Amino acid sequence: MPLDPPLTRPTRVEIDLDALCFNLSQVRQRVGAECEILAVVKADAYGHGARGVAPALQAAGADQFGVALVGEGLDLRRYGITRPVVVLGGVFPGEEPLLLEHDLQPALYDLDVARRLDAASREAGRRIPCHLKIDTGMGRLGFRPERLPEVLATLKALPGLELRGVISHLALADEPEKSFTAAQVERFQAVVNQVREAGFAPRYLHLANSAAIYSRDLCGCNLVRPGISLYGGLTGSPFEQDVPQRPVMRFLSQVAQVKEVPAGEGVSYAHRFVTARPSRIAAVPVGYADGYSRLLTGKGEVLIRGCRAPVAGTVCMDWILVDVTHIPGVTVGDRVTLLGSDGTESITAKEWADKVGTITYEVFCNISKRVPRIFVSGKE
Ligand SMILES: *Cc1c(COP(=O)(O)O)cnc(C)c1O
Repeated sequence: MPLDPPLTRPTRVEIDLDALCFNLSQVRQRVGAECEILAVVKADAYGHGARGVAPALQAAGADQFGVALVGEGLDLRRYGITRPVVVLGGVFPGEEPLLLEHDLQPALYDLDVARRLDAASREAGRRIPCHLKIDTGMGRLGFRPERLPEVLATLKALPGLELRGVISHLALADEPEKSFTAAQVERFQAVVNQVREAGFAPRYLHLANSAAIYSRDLCGCNLVRPGISLYGGLTGSPFEQDVPQRPVMRFLSQVAQVKEVPAGEGVSYAHRFVTARPSRIAAVPVGYADGYSRLLTGKGEVLIRGCRAPVAGTVCMDWILVDVTHIPGVTVGDRVTLLGSDGTESITAKEWADKVGTITYEVFCNISKRVPRIFVSGKE
């Protein structure tokens, strides 16, 4: 693993690669040996750092990788990923040569793109494996099923493209109500039949994200696309208890200053917090520029010496202030856990997400580039 830049600031993210590999092994157990796993590592592995996450997943048996952008696919190749890489977000004009050069497989949902890829493929003398993206009800990317005859006829005439897979995405997989998901699955199966009747033989059929992996059977698919469950952030009523997943990210800092403050004094911008008693206030070098959401103003809690401590007042760009009056002995250099466990207490991404009205995915992705990711595993 390449060395990290010098850690001149104690604020950091630790990525537990053992927990990551455990989570992958649970997906493997769930889907069986016959089904391939495409590990979704878009957005820098959901903010966990693809540089460390993707190689660990590859070594632990992930069969393929999924990214959103061509640029993210290039990054994976730089990090030593040799397995197939699917660009789930497709290709934009001008990216075709890069796609070919780095052997990336696009999701395909536009016929002009298909024609440009075909042209690029002929120039390079190499076919491009594509995953035909169908909108079965997500209402985002993909051809609507009724366009299939035209789409398949066009693809027939583009020999530079190889139809490697058929892909769709579920809109409601993480909700208990299953009937719409069942309808999406049915539409997908009808599409696959049409594709086959048109003479194509796609090797991979894939539909399931994490929530679907853990709530449905695979409906004839032979590739699954877990993202959030690999990072231990799958939430929702059926999953939290039943899915064996361990949190992968710990977000840590240190106390930089501790001050005795008399009662009745305002703390941080706008004096949203006023001490109700003689207090001890700790300054911690993390702020919204690091991804510690400003919406945690007056709501966030951190762990110091195994105890919960509330954020006092406004979250700043580079700092938070924490009321540690009730925790004996807090001193400069004490570890501060923003996300993760300390002793018997823990702060989960779900707790944080609920407080600011978002989902675990966004909590992870928002941890900014300024925070170094440190990859740890017991094997080192
Ligand atoms: C992000 C993404 C996934 C992974 O979804 P999770 O909910 O994180 O498991 C799967 N498929 C597609 C097309 C995606 O964009």
